[in-house]
Amino acid sequence: MSVGDYPRVRLAHVHSETSLELVVFSSTTTRYSLHPLPVRRPASGVVEDVVSCGSCGTTVKIRVFSPRLRWQLKLCWFSVFLIGVVIEAVAVNYQVVLDDQDKARALQYLLYIPGCIGLTAAIIGLIRFFTEDGVRLPSYLRDSRHRLRRR
Ligand SMILES: [Zn+2]
Repeated sequence: MSVGDYPRVRLAHVHSETSLELVVFSSTTTRYSLHPLPVRRPASGVVEDVVSCGSCGTTVKIRVFSPRLRWQLKLCWFSVFLIGVVIEAVAVNYQVVLDDQDKARALQYLLYIPGCIGLTAAIIGLIRFFTEDGVRLPSYLRDSRHRLRRR
């Protein structure tokens, strides 16, 4: 599976973020500009490089994974998806079985916890499987002005 010599994701410089919070709804509007990441994927392993932001000129250290490592990361995220689906399916199955019996009502409600965990893991794993590009920025806590975006 060919992924190209350069990452598809781009460096996003965040200009502003505004949040709108209503009683049951919240929305965040982020204004950012995108800049390419001119770092060639290594043949194997991980390469660290420094890129300059086109908006503010700040240098940002990024790590770019080889195509093979990128594919392994995608498989890890797909594994998270599958594990989440199995946990959710087992939890729902036991809930249905317990629903036929009048006893063990508390256990039936406790099964919502692993069900929610499984569903969350499945959603996160699936999203990350499709969006993983094998590029990492330093910690979000250290630099909240720069992120990775696909478009
Ligand atoms: Zn910037």
